[in-house]
Amino acid sequence: MAFEGLAERLQGTLKKIRGKGKVSEQDVKEMMREVRLALLEADVNFKVVKKFIADVKERAIGQEVLDSLTPGQQVIKVVNEELTKLMGGEQSKIAVAQKPPTVVMMVGLQGAGKTTTTGKLANHLRKKHNRNPLMVAADIYRPAAIKQLETLGKQLDMPVFSLGDQVSPVEIAKQALAKAKEEHHDYVLIDTAGRLHVDEELMGELDEIKEVTSPEEILLVVDAMTGQDAVNVAQSFNERLGISGVVLTKLDGDTRGGAAISVKSVTDTPIKFAGMGEKIDALEPFHPERMASRILG
Ligand code: GDP
Repeated sequence: MAFEGLAERLQGTLKKIRGKGKVSEQDVKEMMREVRLALLEADVNFKVVKKFIADVKERAIGQEVLDSLTPGQQVIKVVNEELTKLMGGEQSKIAVAQKPPTVVMMVGLQGAGKTTTTGKLANHLRKKHNRNPLMVAADIYRPAAIKQLETLGKQLDMPVFSLGDQVSPVEIAKQALAKAKEEHHDYVLIDTAGRLHVDEELMGELDEIKEVTSPEEILLVVDAMTGQDAVNVAQSFNERLGISGVVLTKLDGDTRGGAAISVKSVTDTPIKFAGMGEKIDALEPFHPERMASRILG
């Protein structure tokens, strides 16, 4: 599981302060030094760490905490609240268009898990929200992507719109939207192409799809295993396209997880879902508070 190392370190550090009847400024400073190292070691972006530490310190050294009856616990409460905030605060749900269908563009680098997540999300929307989504195979460059989505569709017994790989993704998206309206689908999930690196051609194409479908959501699918690169990728996609949320995949792996935490801070867009495995039902809405509590024990 992701965050295991971080959880262990933070819990070890916080244990020292938990039962303290008196907490000095020095105690807080020492603790935060260890917290800082734990976060950096977990691969949290250094700028994100810096701000986090400053925010916690400012609150934890306040009189309110130091004068309280259980200062150790108060300090931990502050850390928990700030970690929750760092991961997005309130849970952020998937958008619903005022007038259906709600268009969701899935974007990200090749191999991040877009196609898999498109299937997972369709399944989630049907199972948990009683929706009737149409999946759209618009990744015409990765040879297996169309087939992969069609297979997922069959497995789920849910429709997949495809025009093969000889029609442009923009045209596919346009026609899929028309069909969704005609057949009263309430969600349209567009699986777009990725590249191994962010490039201008890819961004241009995604921009055009955005133009013709006016999506409510542009979800960036990020592989949590990719470390700091995830932060750079998220930044590029956000600057160019304006993403509305993030799906972190492969959180079931042994990633340190810190880069994933940083993505929210750096792009200022919420993490909406977490991918927890290869299976079709291994997608969970992301709850910042629960995740923070899990990390802090
Ligand atoms: P795409 O190129 O972005 O469409 O990526 P794919 O959907 O083909 O996924 C790439 C690989 O990652 C596949 O082998 C998926 O099974 C795997 N994958 C996707 N999401 C997860 C996840 O949450 N956990 C794990 N362990 N594997 C995942």
